[in-house]
Amino acid sequence: MKPWEKNIRKVVPYVPGEQPKGDRLIKLNTNENPYPPAPGVEKALREMDADLFRKYPDPASSLLVDVLAEQYGVGKDQVFVGVGSDDVIGMAFLTFFNGEEPILFPDVSYSFYPVWAELFHIPFETPAVDEDFKIRKEDYYRKNGGIIFPNPNAPTGLELGLMEVEDILRHNQDVVVIVDEAYVDFGGHSALALLPRYENLLVVQTFSKSRSMAGMRIGYGIGSPRLIQALQDVRYSYNSYTMNRPSQILGAEAVKDKVYFRQTLDKIIKTREETKDWMGKMGFSFPDSKANFLFATHERVPAKTIFQALKKEQIYVRYFDTPRLEDYLRITIGTDAEMEALRRFLEAFL
Ligand SMILES: *Cc1c(COP(=O)(O)O)cnc(C)c1O
Repeated sequence: MKPWEKNIRKVVPYVPGEQPKGDRLIKLNTNENPYPPAPGVEKALREMDADLFRKYPDPASSLLVDVLAEQYGVGKDQVFVGVGSDDVIGMAFLTFFNGEEPILFPDVSYSFYPVWAELFHIPFETPAVDEDFKIRKEDYYRKNGGIIFPNPNAPTGLELGLMEVEDILRHNQDVVVIVDEAYVDFGGHSALALLPRYENLLVVQTFSKSRSMAGMRIGYGIGSPRLIQALQDVRYSYNSYTMNRPSQILGAEAVKDKVYFRQTLDKIIKTREETKDWMGKMGFSFPDSKANFLFATHERVPAKTIFQALKKEQIYVRYFDTPRLEDYLRITIGTDAEMEALRRFLEAFL
Protein backbone atom coordinates (compact mmCIF):
# COMPACT_ATOMS: atom_id res chain seq x y z
CA MET A 1 0.00 0.00 0.00
CA LYS A 2 1.35 3.44 -0.97
CA PRO A 3 1.29 6.01 1.87
CA TRP A 4 -1.29 8.17 0.05
CA GLU A 5 -3.60 5.20 -0.27
CA LYS A 6 -4.34 5.12 3.45
CA ASN A 7 -6.13 8.47 3.09
CA ILE A 8 -8.53 7.17 0.48
CA ARG A 9 -12.13 6.72 1.59
CA LYS A 10 -12.98 3.02 1.41
CA VAL A 11 -16.49 2.17 0.30
CA VAL A 12 -18.32 -0.83 -1.09
CA PRO A 13 -20.33 0.72 -3.93
CA TYR A 14 -23.94 0.11 -4.85
CA VAL A 15 -24.23 -2.23 -7.84
CA PRO A 16 -26.86 -1.06 -10.32
CA GLY A 17 -28.65 -3.55 -12.61
CA GLU A 18 -26.96 -4.42 -15.88
CA GLN A 19 -27.55 -2.22 -18.93
CA PRO A 20 -26.88 -4.76 -21.70
CA LYS A 21 -26.75 -3.55 -25.30
CA GLY A 22 -28.57 -4.97 -28.32
CA ASP A 23 -31.89 -4.76 -30.14
CA ARG A 24 -33.24 -8.24 -29.66
CA LEU A 25 -32.99 -8.37 -25.92
CA ILE A 26 -35.88 -8.05 -23.52
CA LYS A 27 -34.94 -5.90 -20.58
CA LEU A 28 -36.94 -6.59 -17.43
CA ASN A 29 -34.15 -6.04 -14.90
CA THR A 30 -34.14 -2.39 -13.76
CA ASN A 31 -37.82 -1.44 -13.48
CA GLU A 32 -37.76 1.01 -16.35
CA ASN A 33 -41.03 1.92 -18.00
CA PRO A 34 -41.53 0.08 -21.32
CA TYR A 35 -43.47 2.99 -22.82
CA PRO A 36 -41.99 6.28 -24.10
CA PRO A 37 -42.22 9.56 -22.16
CA ALA A 38 -45.22 11.84 -22.77
CA PRO A 39 -45.47 13.19 -26.36
CA GLY A 40 -44.89 16.75 -25.08
CA VAL A 41 -41.41 15.69 -23.94
CA GLU A 42 -40.46 14.60 -27.46
CA LYS A 43 -41.86 17.83 -28.92
CA ALA A 44 -39.99 20.06 -26.45
CA LEU A 45 -36.82 18.08 -27.11
CA ARG A 46 -37.06 18.73 -30.87
CA GLU A 47 -37.61 22.42 -30.30
CA MET A 48 -34.61 22.71 -28.00
CA ASP A 49 -31.77 25.01 -29.06
CA ALA A 50 -28.15 24.15 -28.25
CA ASP A 51 -27.63 27.78 -27.22
CA LEU A 52 -29.51 26.73 -24.09
CA PHE A 53 -26.34 25.04 -22.90
CA ARG A 54 -24.23 28.19 -22.97
CA LYS A 55 -25.60 29.51 -19.71
CA TYR A 56 -25.83 27.93 -16.28
CA PRO A 57 -29.19 26.40 -15.45
CA ASP A 58 -31.56 27.94 -12.91
CA PRO A 59 -30.09 26.62 -9.62
CA ALA A 60 -33.58 26.59 -8.06
CA SER A 61 -35.08 24.58 -10.99
CA SER A 62 -38.14 26.84 -10.65
CA LEU A 63 -39.84 25.67 -13.82
CA LEU A 64 -39.95 22.11 -12.56
CA VAL A 65 -40.60 23.00 -8.91
CA ASP A 66 -43.62 25.10 -9.95
CA VAL A 67 -45.33 22.34 -11.95
CA LEU A 68 -44.66 19.77 -9.22
CA ALA A 69 -46.04 22.10 -6.52
CA GLU A 70 -49.16 22.59 -8.61
CA GLN A 71 -49.51 18.88 -9.42
CA TYR A 72 -49.34 17.84 -5.77
CA GLY A 73 -51.13 20.85 -4.26
CA VAL A 74 -48.21 21.95 -2.07
CA GLY A 75 -46.20 25.16 -1.74
CA LYS A 76 -43.19 25.86 -3.93
CA ASP A 77 -41.19 25.96 -0.73
CA GLN A 78 -42.14 22.32 -0.11
CA VAL A 79 -40.47 20.84 -3.20
CA PHE A 80 -36.81 19.83 -3.60
CA VAL A 81 -35.65 18.48 -6.97
CA GLY A 82 -32.55 16.42 -7.63
CA VAL A 83 -30.72 14.38 -10.25
CA GLY A 84 -32.85 11.28 -9.81
CA SER A 85 -34.30 10.34 -6.45
CA ASP A 86 -30.92 8.78 -5.66
CA ASP A 87 -29.56 12.32 -5.51
CA VAL A 88 -32.48 13.47 -3.36
CA ILE A 89 -32.13 10.53 -0.96
CA GLY A 90 -28.33 10.90 -0.78
CA MET A 91 -28.74 14.59 0.11
CA ALA A 92 -31.43 13.67 2.64
CA PHE A 93 -29.09 11.16 4.36
CA LEU A 94 -26.41 13.86 4.53
CA THR A 95 -28.84 16.48 5.84
CA PHE A 96 -31.17 14.65 8.21
CA PHE A 97 -29.28 11.64 9.49
CA ASN A 98 -26.68 13.53 11.42
CA GLY A 99 -27.32 12.28 14.98
CA GLU A 100 -25.70 9.71 17.24
CA GLU A 101 -28.47 7.10 17.29
CA PRO A 102 -28.64 4.51 14.49
CA ILE A 103 -31.05 5.16 11.65
CA LEU A 104 -33.50 2.36 10.80
CA PHE A 105 -34.50 0.77 7.52
CA PRO A 106 -35.81 -2.74 6.68
CA ASP A 107 -33.30 -5.54 6.01
CA VAL A 108 -35.09 -6.18 2.74
CA SER A 109 -35.29 -2.81 1.00
CA TYR A 110 -33.39 -0.61 -1.43
CA SER A 111 -29.78 -1.80 -1.35
CA PHE A 112 -28.48 1.75 -1.79
CA TYR A 113 -29.45 2.75 1.79
CA PRO A 114 -26.59 0.94 3.55
CA VAL A 115 -24.17 2.31 0.96
CA TRP A 116 -25.08 5.93 1.75
CA ALA A 117 -25.01 5.19 5.46
CA GLU A 118 -21.48 3.78 5.17
CA LEU A 119 -20.33 6.63 2.94
CA PHE A 120 -21.53 9.28 5.39
CA HIS A 121 -20.53 7.29 8.52
CA ILE A 122 -24.13 7.07 9.72
CA PRO A 123 -24.80 4.24 12.19
CA PHE A 124 -27.72 2.05 11.07
CA GLU A 125 -29.81 -0.95 12.05
CA THR A 126 -31.97 -3.04 9.75
CA PRO A 127 -35.06 -4.57 11.41
CA ALA A 128 -36.04 -7.78 9.60
CA VAL A 129 -39.24 -7.85 7.57
CA ASP A 130 -41.46 -10.80 8.54
CA GLU A 131 -41.56 -14.18 6.76
CA ASP A 132 -44.04 -12.73 4.25
CA PHE A 133 -41.66 -9.81 3.62
CA LYS A 134 -43.95 -7.36 5.42
CA ILE A 135 -42.46 -4.42 7.32
CA ARG A 136 -43.30 -4.77 11.04
CA LYS A 137 -44.18 -1.27 12.13
CA GLU A 138 -43.50 -2.07 15.81
CA ASP A 139 -39.80 -2.52 14.99
CA TYR A 140 -39.68 1.23 14.43
CA TYR A 141 -41.09 2.16 17.83
CA ARG A 142 -37.73 2.65 19.47
CA LYS A 143 -35.00 5.21 19.86
CA ASN A 144 -33.38 6.01 16.51
CA GLY A 145 -31.67 8.72 14.47
CA GLY A 146 -34.15 8.66 11.58
CA ILE A 147 -36.12 6.23 9.42
CA ILE A 148 -36.32 5.45 5.72
CA PHE A 149 -38.24 2.78 3.84
CA PRO A 150 -39.56 2.34 0.31
CA ASN A 151 -43.34 2.12 -0.05
CA PRO A 152 -44.24 0.03 -1.99
CA ASN A 153 -41.12 -1.77 -0.85
CA ALA A 154 -38.33 -2.85 -3.20
CA PRO A 155 -37.63 -5.52 -4.29
CA THR A 156 -40.83 -7.08 -2.94
CA GLY A 157 -43.50 -4.70 -4.33
CA LEU A 158 -45.43 -4.95 -1.05
CA GLU A 159 -47.26 -1.89 0.18
CA LEU A 160 -47.45 -0.84 3.83
CA GLY A 161 -50.91 0.67 4.38
CA LEU A 162 -51.16 4.39 4.95
CA MET A 163 -52.51 3.84 8.49
CA GLU A 164 -49.39 1.85 9.36
CA VAL A 165 -47.15 4.47 7.80
CA GLU A 166 -48.91 7.00 10.02
CA ASP A 167 -48.41 4.75 13.06
CA ILE A 168 -44.66 4.83 12.36
CA LEU A 169 -44.77 8.61 12.03
CA ARG A 170 -46.80 9.03 15.21
CA HIS A 171 -44.16 7.11 17.15
CA ASN A 172 -41.29 9.05 15.55
CA GLN A 173 -41.96 12.76 15.71
CA ASP A 174 -38.47 13.64 16.95
CA VAL A 175 -36.58 12.37 13.90
CA VAL A 176 -36.96 12.73 10.14
CA VAL A 177 -38.93 9.94 8.47
CA ILE A 178 -38.39 9.45 4.73
CA VAL A 179 -40.85 7.47 2.62
CA ASP A 180 -39.26 6.48 -0.70
CA GLU A 181 -42.18 6.28 -3.12
CA ALA A 182 -40.34 5.31 -6.32
CA TYR A 183 -43.22 2.95 -7.20
CA VAL A 184 -46.24 4.61 -5.61
CA ASP A 185 -47.88 5.58 -8.93
CA PHE A 186 -48.45 1.93 -9.85
CA GLY A 187 -51.21 1.52 -7.30
CA GLY A 188 -49.83 2.55 -3.91
CA HIS A 189 -51.18 5.19 -1.53
CA SER A 190 -48.93 8.19 -1.09
CA ALA A 191 -47.83 9.51 2.29
CA LEU A 192 -48.25 12.98 0.78
CA ALA A 193 -51.68 12.83 2.42
CA LEU A 194 -49.94 12.87 5.83
CA LEU A 195 -47.79 15.96 5.13
CA PRO A 196 -50.16 18.47 6.77
CA ARG A 197 -49.83 16.58 10.07
CA TYR A 198 -46.12 15.71 10.12
CA GLU A 199 -43.49 18.38 9.70
CA ASN A 200 -40.77 15.71 9.95
CA LEU A 201 -41.97 13.68 6.93
CA LEU A 202 -40.15 13.72 3.58
CA VAL A 203 -41.81 11.95 0.65
CA VAL A 204 -39.45 11.11 -2.23
CA GLN A 205 -40.62 10.25 -5.75
CA THR A 206 -38.96 9.85 -9.16
CA PHE A 207 -39.50 10.31 -12.90
CA SER A 208 -37.51 7.15 -13.59
CA LYS A 209 -40.28 4.58 -13.37
CA SER A 210 -43.81 5.92 -13.74
CA ARG A 211 -42.84 8.83 -16.02
CA SER A 212 -40.51 6.84 -18.32
CA MET A 213 -37.55 9.17 -17.82
CA ALA A 214 -34.84 7.14 -16.08
CA GLY A 215 -32.28 8.48 -18.57
CA MET A 216 -33.07 12.11 -17.74
CA ARG A 217 -32.35 11.68 -14.00
CA ILE A 218 -35.12 13.56 -12.20
CA GLY A 219 -36.32 12.98 -8.66
CA TYR A 220 -37.98 15.11 -6.01
CA GLY A 221 -38.74 15.30 -2.35
CA ILE A 222 -41.82 16.93 -0.84
CA GLY A 223 -41.96 17.98 2.78
CA SER A 224 -42.41 20.89 5.16
CA PRO A 225 -40.68 24.17 4.23
CA ARG A 226 -38.21 23.64 7.08
CA LEU A 227 -37.10 20.25 5.80
CA ILE A 228 -36.81 21.55 2.25
CA GLN A 229 -34.79 24.58 3.37
CA ALA A 230 -32.37 22.31 5.24
CA LEU A 231 -31.93 20.15 2.12
CA GLN A 232 -31.32 23.23 -0.04
CA ASP A 233 -28.68 24.53 2.37
CA VAL A 234 -26.75 21.27 2.15
CA ARG A 235 -27.11 21.05 -1.61
CA TYR A 236 -25.89 24.62 -2.13
CA SER A 237 -22.92 23.74 0.05
CA TYR A 238 -21.99 20.91 -2.28
CA ASN A 239 -23.04 21.69 -5.88
CA SER A 240 -25.57 24.38 -6.71
CA TYR A 241 -26.09 23.47 -10.37
CA THR A 242 -27.09 19.85 -10.03
CA MET A 243 -29.98 19.78 -12.46
CA ASN A 244 -29.29 20.62 -16.10
CA ARG A 245 -31.60 22.73 -18.24
CA PRO A 246 -32.99 19.96 -20.48
CA SER A 247 -34.03 17.97 -17.41
CA GLN A 248 -35.86 20.98 -15.99
CA ILE A 249 -37.68 21.73 -19.25
CA LEU A 250 -38.48 18.15 -20.26
CA GLY A 251 -39.42 17.16 -16.72
CA ALA A 252 -41.97 19.98 -16.58
CA GLU A 253 -43.44 18.76 -19.89
CA ALA A 254 -43.83 15.24 -18.54
CA VAL A 255 -45.80 16.43 -15.52
CA LYS A 256 -48.19 18.53 -17.63
CA ASP A 257 -49.61 15.55 -19.55
CA LYS A 258 -51.83 13.96 -16.93
CA VAL A 259 -53.89 11.95 -19.42
CA TYR A 260 -50.90 10.16 -20.97
CA PHE A 261 -49.49 9.49 -17.49
CA ARG A 262 -52.73 7.81 -16.38
CA GLN A 263 -53.01 5.76 -19.60
CA THR A 264 -49.48 4.42 -19.31
CA LEU A 265 -49.92 3.51 -15.66
CA ASP A 266 -53.21 1.74 -16.38
CA LYS A 267 -51.58 -0.33 -19.13
CA ILE A 268 -48.73 -1.41 -16.84
CA ILE A 269 -51.09 -2.24 -13.97
CA LYS A 270 -53.27 -4.32 -16.30
CA THR A 271 -50.24 -6.20 -17.63
CA ARG A 272 -49.01 -6.75 -14.06
CA GLU A 273 -52.28 -8.30 -12.95
CA GLU A 274 -52.37 -10.56 -16.03
CA THR A 275 -48.77 -11.57 -15.35
CA LYS A 276 -49.65 -12.48 -11.75
CA ASP A 277 -52.37 -14.67 -13.12
CA TRP A 278 -50.31 -16.77 -15.56
CA MET A 279 -47.24 -16.90 -13.34
CA GLY A 280 -49.35 -18.18 -10.47
CA LYS A 281 -50.66 -20.97 -12.70
CA MET A 282 -47.08 -21.84 -13.69
CA GLY A 283 -46.05 -22.55 -10.09
CA PHE A 284 -44.65 -19.15 -9.14
CA SER A 285 -45.62 -17.32 -5.97
CA PHE A 286 -44.94 -13.71 -5.05
CA PRO A 287 -45.96 -10.97 -2.65
CA ASP A 288 -48.95 -9.00 -3.97
CA SER A 289 -47.01 -6.32 -5.83
CA LYS A 290 -48.28 -2.75 -6.12
CA ALA A 291 -45.21 -1.79 -8.14
CA ASN A 292 -44.10 -2.26 -11.77
CA PHE A 293 -42.36 -5.55 -11.01
CA LEU A 294 -43.04 -8.94 -9.46
CA PHE A 295 -40.79 -10.61 -6.90
CA ALA A 296 -41.31 -14.24 -7.72
CA THR A 297 -40.13 -17.64 -6.54
CA HIS A 298 -40.84 -20.98 -8.21
CA GLU A 299 -42.11 -24.04 -6.31
CA ARG A 300 -39.61 -26.36 -7.97
CA VAL A 301 -36.86 -24.66 -9.99
CA PRO A 302 -34.26 -22.46 -8.24
CA ALA A 303 -34.38 -18.77 -9.13
CA LYS A 304 -30.73 -18.73 -10.16
CA THR A 305 -31.30 -21.51 -12.69
CA ILE A 306 -34.22 -19.63 -14.24
CA PHE A 307 -32.23 -16.39 -14.20
CA GLN A 308 -29.35 -17.96 -16.12
CA ALA A 309 -31.61 -19.67 -18.63
CA LEU A 310 -33.46 -16.42 -19.29
CA LYS A 311 -30.21 -14.56 -19.77
CA LYS A 312 -29.10 -17.04 -22.43
CA GLU A 313 -32.36 -16.25 -24.18
CA GLN A 314 -31.54 -12.52 -23.94
CA ILE A 315 -34.30 -11.97 -21.41
CA TYR A 316 -32.84 -9.98 -18.52
CA VAL A 317 -34.42 -10.03 -15.06
CA ARG A 318 -32.84 -9.14 -11.70
CA TYR A 319 -31.38 -11.77 -9.40
CA PHE A 320 -29.99 -10.93 -5.93
CA ASP A 321 -27.50 -13.48 -4.66
CA THR A 322 -28.09 -12.57 -0.98
CA PRO A 323 -29.48 -14.64 1.93
CA ARG A 324 -33.15 -13.69 2.07
CA LEU A 325 -33.55 -13.03 -1.64
CA GLU A 326 -31.69 -15.89 -3.34
CA ASP A 327 -34.85 -17.87 -4.13
CA TYR A 328 -36.46 -14.96 -5.93
CA LEU A 329 -36.37 -13.12 -9.25
CA ARG A 330 -37.41 -9.51 -9.61
CA ILE A 331 -39.17 -9.19 -12.93
CA THR A 332 -40.06 -5.77 -14.32
CA ILE A 333 -43.44 -5.47 -16.02
CA GLY A 334 -42.75 -4.78 -19.71
CA THR A 335 -45.08 -4.46 -22.67
CA ASP A 336 -47.65 -7.19 -23.34
CA ALA A 337 -45.43 -8.51 -26.14
CA GLU A 338 -42.40 -8.72 -23.84
CA MET A 339 -44.37 -10.51 -21.14
CA GLU A 340 -45.73 -12.91 -23.73
CA ALA A 341 -42.16 -13.76 -24.83
CA LEU A 342 -41.30 -14.38 -21.18
CA ARG A 343 -44.37 -16.57 -20.73
CA ARG A 344 -43.58 -18.68 -23.80
CA PHE A 345 -40.01 -19.25 -22.72
CA LEU A 346 -40.91 -20.15 -19.14
CA GLU A 347 -43.63 -22.50 -20.25
CA ALA A 348 -41.15 -24.45 -22.37
CA PHE A 349 -38.32 -24.25 -19.83
CA LEU A 350 -40.21 -25.28 -16.72
C1 LIG B 1 -35.35 3.20 -8.71
C2 LIG B 1 -35.34 3.54 -7.26
C3 LIG B 1 -34.80 4.73 -6.77
C4 LIG B 1 -33.95 5.67 -7.58
O1 LIG B 1 -34.44 6.11 -8.71
P1 LIG B 1 -33.79 7.29 -9.52
O2 LIG B 1 -33.63 6.77 -10.88
O3 LIG B 1 -32.49 7.70 -8.89
O4 LIG B 1 -34.81 8.37 -9.40
C5 LIG B 1 -34.92 5.02 -5.43
N1 LIG B 1 -35.53 4.17 -4.60
C6 LIG B 1 -36.04 3.01 -5.01
C7 LIG B 1 -36.68 2.10 -4.04
C8 LIG B 1 -35.95 2.65 -6.36
O5 LIG B 1 -36.41 1.48 -6.77
